[in-house]
Amino acid sequence: MPVVFIALGTNLEPRAAHLEKALELFRSFPDVEVKRVSSIYESKPVGYLDQPDFLNLVFEAETDLLPVDLLDRCQSIEEELGRVRTIRFGPRTLDVDIVLYRAEIIEEERLIVPHPRMQERAFVLLPLQELNPELIVPKWNKTVNELVAELPANDLEEIWKYAPES
Ligand code: ATP
Ligand code: CA
Ligand code: CA
Repeated sequence: MPVVFIALGTNLEPRAAHLEKALELFRSFPDVEVKRVSSIYESKPVGYLDQPDFLNLVFEAETDLLPVDLLDRCQSIEEELGRVRTIRFGPRTLDVDIVLYRAEIIEEERLIVPHPRMQERAFVLLPLQELNPELIVPKWNKTVNELVAELPANDLEEIWKYAPES
């Protein structure tokens, strides 16, 4: 069964609960087998700076679903979580991105895999590195370790492992 890596992100409280709920929903699908889950990382927002810090994780799963069907599932989980807290025009409670689908390169209107901005995002690469540092990322043809090494040093100062009590 194809191995996929999926990234979760949230910056609305209760942040950790949103990640947990999303994992629970993925685990409830009979055709998705959640394997390893990374630690949770906390990071400063990039782009729009005037918003709360993010929590992110990446998990590995096996699935028979075709890539677009997996994307539908991801979006259904975003909607499900979005419904829990309806904040008008606020940040989304949950973002679910397909990072990798096996070693495939997909460039469709709705779906680009590997995720087109993963190589510049510490909040995707660090959790992925934890799960599979030597994995070769297609398109760039580099290992996760190599992509992490290419991140600007500053980016690594804006991300840390999440400590819920702090
Ligand atoms: P970014 O893509 O930079 O992380 P975002 O996650 O905030 O930004 P969204 O608004 O969540 O962007 O998604 C916009 C569209 O991106 C989705 O409707 C989806 O069709 C498309 N998309 C393309 N490639 C992917 C992918 N690998 N995973 C998830 N969505 C994708
Ligand atoms: Ca995203
Ligand atoms: Ca997204």
